[in-house]
Amino acid sequence: MQSNFKPDLSTQCAAIGCTARIPRFHLMCLRHWDMVSCTVRAEVYATARAGRVYGSRVNYLLAVTAAQMNVATEEGKPADVRQALQEKYDRLLKLKSEGAKQEKAATA
Ligand SMILES: [Zn+2]
Repeated sequence: MQSNFKPDLSTQCAAIGCTARIPRFHLMCLRHWDMVSCTVRAEVYATARAGRVYGSRVNYLLAVTAAQMNVATEEGKPADVRQALQEKYDRLLKLKSEGAKQEKAATA
């Protein structure tokens, strides 16, 4: 029996305001990925892998947000959009430092 069901193997570009469909496991469409700095790209790759191994998504989400900030700056997005990204980034940083504190307390 043949099934016509095709799973949706695509996802949406992570850049703010972009609706491009991209292959799953990609973060952004090529146009936007090109706007992300080499440092942040490396961070996205490294943390995506580490997240799968250690189950920690905070570092990955930090890298993704940094990539979104790169694009927003490059595209000259309005200040409130960039401000919202900055706040998200700060919240994640706080979450990360709280997680580190908890880990320290648990092993002390
Ligand atoms: Zn895009």
